[in-house]
Amino acid sequence: MKYAIISDIHGNLEALETVLTHAKEHGCEKYVCGGDVVGYNANPSECMAIVREMNMPCVMGNHDEYVGNDIDLSSFNPVAAEAVLWTRSQLSEEERKWLRDLRYIRLVDSFSVVHATMDGPKYWGYVQSKMDAAASFTYQTTPVCFHGHTHVPLAFTEDLDISGGAYESVKVERNKRYFINVGSVGQPRDGDPRAAYVIYDTDAQTIQLFRLNYDLEKAQEKIRAAGLPDRLADRLGLGK
Ligand code: ZN
Repeated sequence: MKYAIISDIHGNLEALETVLTHAKEHGCEKYVCGGDVVGYNANPSECMAIVREMNMPCVMGNHDEYVGNDIDLSSFNPVAAEAVLWTRSQLSEEERKWLRDLRYIRLVDSFSVVHATMDGPKYWGYVQSKMDAAASFTYQTTPVCFHGHTHVPLAFTEDLDISGGAYESVKVERNKRYFINVGSVGQPRDGDPRAAYVIYDTDAQTIQLFRLNYDLEKAQEKIRAAGLPDRLADRLGLGK
C-alpha cells in the first residue's frame, strides 16, 4: 500500500492540489495528514474541505489549535497573530470545531503520526537535533512515526545510536525505528520553496521525499488580495 503523508498545508490550495495530483499519479491509495491544515495562507476552508472529503486521518497542529480555539494571542509574533485572527474569521463555527476536535496522535496501519513530538504532543516542541529525536523515540511505539511542525524535512533513525539529517529516501529496516519529518506542503522553510511530501510504500518499506513546483505566484497573489501580511507572501517565494 502506498500512503501519501502530507503535513503543514497551511491553507495553500495551489500547493495541496499539486501534491495530491502527483501522489495519485504515483499510485497512492491512502492519504494521511500531519496537521496544520490552516494558518498563514489564503485558502484554509478549501484545504480543510479536501482533507475532510478525502477522509484523511489527521492530527492536530499548533495552528489548528490556535484557530479552532479562542486562545489569547498576545504572546504571539504580530504576523502569526494576524494570520490566526484572519483564519478564524474565514471559518464557520463547525469548521473551527473540527479543528479543535483533532487528536494529537494517530495510529494508521503500522505507523504513527504526530504534529510535533511524541514526548510532548501538546507542547509543540521542535525536533531539530538527535537529542530532540531521542526524547521523542522514548514514547514512539511503532517502527515508523511521521511528523511535521518545523517545515524542514529531516529523517532520524534509531539503531544502536541515533543518526539523522536531510534525506531523499529511507529504506525501513527491521529492528530500527524512524522518526521522519515530511516537510511542509504549504510553507517550506528549508530554503527550497517547492512543496514537500512523502510517499511511504508499506510493501517495499521505502519512504521517499518529493519536492514539487506549484503555482506559487497565484498563492502569493491570493495572500496579498486577502489582506494577509505581505511577509507571508514573500516568505513562500524564499522557502523560509
Ligand atoms: Zn506548521
